Amino acid sequence: MSQLGKLYVVGFGPGDFKHITTRAVEALQESDFIIGYKTYVELIQDLIDSNTAVISTGMTEEVSRAQEAVRQAENGKKVAVISSGDSGVYGMAGLVYEVLIEKGWTEATGVEIEVIPGISAINSCASLLGAPVMHDSCTISLSDHLTPWDLIAKRVEAAAMADFVIALYNPRSGRRTRQIVETQRILLQYRSPETPVGLVKSAYRDRQNIIITNLKDMLNHDIGMLTTVVIGNSSTFLYDNKMITPRGYQRKYTLNADKQPLKPHQRLKEEAEPWAMDQETGIQRSQNIDQVSVFKKVEQETVVKAAAKPTMGSYQLALEALSRVIGEQESSATTYVHQEMESIFELAVSPGVANKRFTPKQMMTLAEVVGEKGTMEYTPNHNILLKIPTTTPDMITAKLQDANFILSPVGDVVTIKACDFCDGEKTGGIPYAEELQEKLGGLQMPKEFNIGFNGCGMACYKAVMEDVGIVYRKGKFDLFVGAKPVGRTAHPGQPVAEGIEPEKIVEAVSKIVEEYRQNAHPNERLFKYFKRAKKIQGYTYQDMSPKIEIEPAPCGD
Ligand code: SAH
Repeated sequence: MSQLGKLYVVGFGPGDFKHITTRAVEALQESDFIIGYKTYVELIQDLIDSNTAVISTGMTEEVSRAQEAVRQAENGKKVAVISSGDSGVYGMAGLVYEVLIEKGWTEATGVEIEVIPGISAINSCASLLGAPVMHDSCTISLSDHLTPWDLIAKRVEAAAMADFVIALYNPRSGRRTRQIVETQRILLQYRSPETPVGLVKSAYRDRQNIIITNLKDMLNHDIGMLTTVVIGNSSTFLYDNKMITPRGYQRKYTLNADKQPLKPHQRLKEEAEPWAMDQETGIQRSQNIDQVSVFKKVEQETVVKAAAKPTMGSYQLALEALSRVIGEQESSATTYVHQEMESIFELAVSPGVANKRFTPKQMMTLAEVVGEKGTMEYTPNHNILLKIPTTTPDMITAKLQDANFILSPVGDVVTIKACDFCDGEKTGGIPYAEELQEKLGGLQMPKEFNIGFNGCGMACYKAVMEDVGIVYRKGKFDLFVGAKPVGRTAHPGQPVAEGIEPEKIVEAVSKIVEEYRQNAHPNERLFKYFKRAKKIQGYTYQDMSPKIEIEPAPCGD
């Protein structure tokens, strides 16, 4: 049986030995021949065995390199064809396959081939710039040696229009100097002049150089054969000289930005993602990204056409799609691509601490701010939870405040749940409830924290079943701490003090809140903290839980 050799097509990454894969090193060491462009062979020289034959050729000799590699492999040799970065990204992998295919190669009958992946410049350069490629991105080579400039320009335009992060490979050489100038001109038709741009020269090589600039100034810097130019999308921003493209996590926010209220399982719910495509109907719901939807429309038409005309080549299809996109574009002049960052604004509203009645104006304001796309939901916390997709949360809060609503953030915050003070007949406690709301309402806590406030000893709004219960009785206050409000082992709070003087109550509760806030573990509810700490503000813990054994039943069981 004739001994067939093996072809390795190796991407060796950006250039230093730490960023080359183990498999690539193995392949280089197993090979009888290494074939590559001179500069690259020099870069990996120290990884190659001294008796390995090296064929290094000039830059434009890729075809002869691939042919020689195939010839040697067919003669039974193990041959490594090397590319910098990834060999499948403007590298040698495609060419090697093309040469093989010319010769009628098939996997079953021909020489064995293994393409070994490497870190491409888009990834190595991105890592040095921060995190610019966090969202949809593309690579475009500005080299027009093998690709008509017209096509490159159209791809630049399509990418600019579709708001891709763009990594420009081969941006400029001694002779090709105008391509990058023209590219900048096209990009400026769609992206702000301030769009962050990163220039990385010789990533992970001796002469590494990193420049952070922007679209309007990028040409004032050195751009050459060894540079990759990374253009941000319309949301990319600079922070401490790093380029960051947000992934979109901040699309769900609440009144206070400290902590995201949505739990992981809630984040994926349909109502939390109004911009997503409807799973069942396939309809694009978000209407506010006009240019992108124009692009989508063209794309869909093209797909239909493709089905109708199976003989049309993909190149012609791409050109036709692009010409349509550009046709649409002409009428709308040069507006920048701008992705509005629509977020779900979450907050809770109530008509008042003691007041439980909504006015018609309040109801109308709610309907107006919630609109077609938002939701409102009544909760056990004496408030209505609003979730509103918006780009202008400040306008919403202004309107709600104007309608005299009390606004609170949602999540693990202090909520004051007062009774209606017998419809305003028992008013004695109201000022203290309001003061507590003013002072503590909405405060971020380790866990949900409800303060129940009742205006008489009947405590009919069940203040004693809240984390902290306050009952106004005969001009003074009784205090309850550490109820377990839910579950089959639910129990009321422990009565810790009776007859607190009115002017002392706000301070006493504030101190409990503060101690718990400082010392509780994340997610540890007040009753658990009280049990663990044994004391809170001098009050000693007593077990209030039911005295019978009861099998635990976690959520949902
Ligand atoms: N196969 C390579 C790309 C070869 S095309 C890869 O996947 O990375 C050559 C272009 O790649 C250069 O003009 C430059 O734009 C980019 N490039 C390759 N190595 C680079 C490096 N170390 N630093 C910056 N850019 C690099």
